[in-house]
Amino acid sequence: QSQELSQVQIDYHEALQALVEDGTRMVCTGRMHTDRICRFESLCYSTEAEEFIYFHSNSSVMLPNLGSRRFQPALLDLSSVEDHNTQYFNFVELPAAALKFMPKPVFVPDVALIANRFNPDNLMHVFHDDLLPIYYTMQQFSDLGLEARLFFMEGWSEGVHFDLYKLLSNKQPLLREQLKTLGRLLCFTKSYVGLSKITTWYQYGFVQPQGPKANILVSGNEVRQFTKFMMQKLNVTMEESSSEEYIVVFSRTINRLILNEAELILALAQEFQMKTITVSLEEHSFSDIVRLISNASMLVSMHGAQLVMSLFLPRGATVVELFPYAINPEHYTPYKTLATLPGMDLQYIAWQNTDREDTVTYPDRPWDQGGIAHLDEAEQERIIKNTEVPRHLCSCRNPEWLFRAYQDTKVNIPSLIQVIRQTVKSKPGPKKQKWSGSLYPGKVRDAKCQASVQGTSEAKLAVSWQIPWNLKYLKVREVKYEVWIQEQGENTYMPYILSHQNHTFSENIKPFTIYLVWIRCIFNKNLLGPFADVLLCST
Ligand code: UDP
Repeated sequence: QSQELSQVQIDYHEALQALVEDGTRMVCTGRMHTDRICRFESLCYSTEAEEFIYFHSNSSVMLPNLGSRRFQPALLDLSSVEDHNTQYFNFVELPAAALKFMPKPVFVPDVALIANRFNPDNLMHVFHDDLLPIYYTMQQFSDLGLEARLFFMEGWSEGVHFDLYKLLSNKQPLLREQLKTLGRLLCFTKSYVGLSKITTWYQYGFVQPQGPKANILVSGNEVRQFTKFMMQKLNVTMEESSSEEYIVVFSRTINRLILNEAELILALAQEFQMKTITVSLEEHSFSDIVRLISNASMLVSMHGAQLVMSLFLPRGATVVELFPYAINPEHYTPYKTLATLPGMDLQYIAWQNTDREDTVTYPDRPWDQGGIAHLDEAEQERIIKNTEVPRHLCSCRNPEWLFRAYQDTKVNIPSLIQVIRQTVKSKPGPKKQKWSGSLYPGKVRDAKCQASVQGTSEAKLAVSWQIPWNLKYLKVREVKYEVWIQEQGENTYMPYILSHQNHTFSENIKPFTIYLVWIRCIFNKNLLGPFADVLLCST
């Protein structure tokens, strides 16, 4: 991978002239700073001021043109974490004429994706906040191909997982610190600023306690397209399904330990009659971990960032997450949410240590490793006595949470096996499943109604329609139709589920009345299609 910028030759004089004459051009998507990504031509960056610069000239464009709303609170989020006040992006404005008095610009010829990594030392954050969002932001804009260059502006050093970021493009990603070595004034010929949040499934609790995002927009299919890409780049090939089935215990070796790991491994192997192996980030290469997990039937691990590796599990596999004493599994669900995304096809099981005897606490460690010795006596006592960490905002500095999160646990084997057995009846996955993608019906077509009146009190409504257009290309187990009959002006309706494409309604149908008839198709009981245009039927 090349670190030099001078890969693509550009005519310096021409580029400078274009910058002076045309200034900066910006066009963005998104209505709010939280869903905005901007495309720039000639966005510049002063490495001395550590500010982005927008140059005004006769040809510059700024859309949206927000005026001072650009600072309320910012133009956009530079990381995929929503509305985090340390992750905002903005630029300062100058007339292009000011370039005369500034350092000579150094042009960046590569198409750039400029963003912040959120927490590059934590594997969950690496995948959820950075890698998936970067991958799909690059899919969104066609000139962000493998020849694009990533610029990380959050100010961290490479971090332990930098090799993973390098897989996303053929060019070496550059960090904020490194920009200084390139020049005093950098000008990005073409750049995109910001990240798509469309793949994120979890919010970390900065405004309300942590939990799944309110409106999840990603499914297992997109997650697996991404993991397929990563595995290709890591040179990990899927092994044949005929090979032996096994369980992976993903252990932590520094803290939040499983104290009876050997016993656990033996018990799992015996119970499920499967080879059981351990991996850890400290003892295995990343590729080895991916290779092992991508063929595993079950992944067992303490709650923690390493569990994001369930991304790589095959369909049908089981995730078992172990929670230390006093930590309610329902309150910390990043990995449960991942495993249960539609189409991930993973089984998720949480086990919690409920026995105080089986936990080992570390009150005397530093506060960031769960120590509580710095707190006053009464508070220490309250924490030690409490049987559940109350819900709280962002876990970052909550001493009670950290105290419990960094306990070691002696896993009660019978209780764990029992919990797993409630869900995994026979042998755990992976199953070579048929494509389980679910397709929805289109609208029913050519809906018609015909009314007939018998005497002054009885009437009938014959309604017919044609199958949805896409049905003739599909094999669908069960096709049903839902019909709602609503008297005009009423806000209640009579619902019917029907198997045929016509039906004569006589119950509760009055003469000389106008009815609204709503019809939709349903595949396999729960795939509801759209309603066709409403039919107006007068008896
Ligand atoms: N980690 C690890 N082994 C350990 C402790 C931590 O591999 O014994 C990794 C963990 O998976 C994560 C990073 O180190 O990627 C930071 O761990 P931390 O406990 O701070 O975060 P958490 O796992 O609770 O999200």
